[in-house]
Amino acid sequence: MRILIANDDGIYSPGLLALAHRARSIGEVRIFAPDVEQSSMGLAVTHSRPLHVKRTTIGDFEAWRVNGTPADCVALGMNSWSEVGLVLAGINLGLNLGNAAWHSGTLGAARQAVLLGARGVAFSTPTGGGEPDFTRLDLHIDRVLRLVIADPTLRLLNVNLPADPAGMIWTRQSVRHYDGGVVPGTDPMGRKHYWLTAHPHEEVEEGTDRWAIANGLVALTPLRLDLTDEAMLTDAKARHRLDDREAKSADGA
Ligand code: MN
Repeated sequence: MRILIANDDGIYSPGLLALAHRARSIGEVRIFAPDVEQSSMGLAVTHSRPLHVKRTTIGDFEAWRVNGTPADCVALGMNSWSEVGLVLAGINLGLNLGNAAWHSGTLGAARQAVLLGARGVAFSTPTGGGEPDFTRLDLHIDRVLRLVIADPTLRLLNVNLPADPAGMIWTRQSVRHYDGGVVPGTDPMGRKHYWLTAHPHEEVEEGTDRWAIANGLVALTPLRLDLTDEAMLTDAKARHRLDDREAKSADGA
């Protein structure tokens, strides 16, 4: 299988090389990654300026660095290399739990893969000041890769690995309210600036990605592209008739 490796931390991140080494055992590997850090870019794509791609090597892998977002990298990679079956993103330096699914560039890369017809898996691990010990993650990443190879219905997965995993479970995305803090400051030129911060309000719910990490377990969260709220759709249709044709079909006419 042809496997594309991408990330949002930038092509020189040690997490990217660690992931490429794991991927080598299950397929042919190429790297397409941003030339500088693109964390929190989500699924952003570049459309107002041209993209440039430069050939390089990362470790002994063929690699291309792109002056764009993670989703740009996946689009360019899949365009220039046919029949990519799987895109692996990461290993991100920092967890991507719960609501981070909306802005994570690591997940953006995996999601872009699925939008373009491949499968995508995002990997993230915490940084506790120093660089993560990726060798502690090897067995767990290999296990995820075996699962993905064996089961093609695993299309889009968000994988978060604690620093030293004690096991692995299937999880739901934790959806919590955040404080959405804004911390003001002043720069050396006396101008005001702001940092956006986000901390979850509530305790962790069992069975969620956040709960798994709190319990030292690798969290595997299957995600979908269809964001439709089915319950609200059914409810809204029943309460607010927008189109007379809906009434006719409801009456069995
Ligand atoms: Mn990142």
